[in-house]
Amino acid sequence: MGQTALKVRLLEHTPEPEKLVATAARLCYSPANIDQLAESVAVSDQQGFIKKLMDMGHHTPLEHISFTFGIEGVSRSLLAQITRHRIASFSVQSQRYVGETRQQNNQGIFDYVIPPAIVDLGPAAVAEYERQMAQMQEWYDGWVEKLGGGRGSYEDARFVLPNAAETKLVVTMNARELRHFFSLRCCQRAQWEIRRLAEEMLSLVKQVAPVIFADAGPGCLVGPCPEGKLSCGQMVTVRKRYGVN
Ligand SMILES: Cc1cc2nc3c(=O)[nH]c(=O)nc-3n(C[C@H](O)[C@H](O)[C@H](O)COP(=O)(O)OP(=O)(O)OC[C@H]3O[C@@H](n4cnc5c(N)ncnc54)[C@H](O)[C@@H]3O)c2cc1C
Repeated sequence: MGQTALKVRLLEHTPEPEKLVATAARLCYSPANIDQLAESVAVSDQQGFIKKLMDMGHHTPLEHISFTFGIEGVSRSLLAQITRHRIASFSVQSQRYVGETRQQNNQGIFDYVIPPAIVDLGPAAVAEYERQMAQMQEWYDGWVEKLGGGRGSYEDARFVLPNAAETKLVVTMNARELRHFFSLRCCQRAQWEIRRLAEEMLSLVKQVAPVIFADAGPGCLVGPCPEGKLSCGQMVTVRKRYGVN
């Protein structure tokens, strides 16, 4: 009851993303006009050309293509982390406008995320966590009633909801920002929930832009671990998991 699971969909992306990046990049180095370029960028050219761009560190052409994700089953705690990424656009389900009273939820309780480490502690720990969520539901319902009920009461009643409360969001990032996001959030040092989300997002974009995201993932895939003294020390295992030697 109330527990929810991560769900991510790639809602939209720039059509033919790799063709557009290759066209934009070629413009920088070619005397040809736009029409000639748009027609001449053959699929066979794109792979080598995009790889060259990446090696050169010429990443601005990646900003022309964007990817929009629909995300649900994540906590408000994750929301606090993902919205720190400033080169992204967000639309988030509002706790001011969407009520979470017992009556408004099919299972009589707001949806929430339960950390795997708590699940690993066993059924008694899970039951305790569920009791705590149910207690917060009672507090929330109580405040909604005291504050007059309806929309006007949600914005203050929500103060007693936990970080575990589920949220839904739509996020758009361009490919350059996505690669940066993956380098930080697919890292073993990232918190488990945002790491899971980042890994799902990466697998979705790899299906539509395989060359651009071929080496995307934690920073240690393309060089030494950027975490220095805080390194997880698992670079070899991580690289293996991503199929990188
Ligand atoms: C493991 C981990 C632990 C963390 N712990 C904490 C913590 O304890 N406390 C905390 O507050 N945060 C923490 N964060 C969040 C972190 O500080 C960043 O806010 C977050 O990762 C977003 O990174 P970013 O700024 O590089 O990304 P984005 O905001 O997406 O920016 C992308 C890039 O654009 C450039 N950029 C964006 N805005 C500016 C600007 N105004 N000026 C100059 N360049 C800019 C930078 O090069 C930046 O890397 C943590 C993050 C991670 C991954």
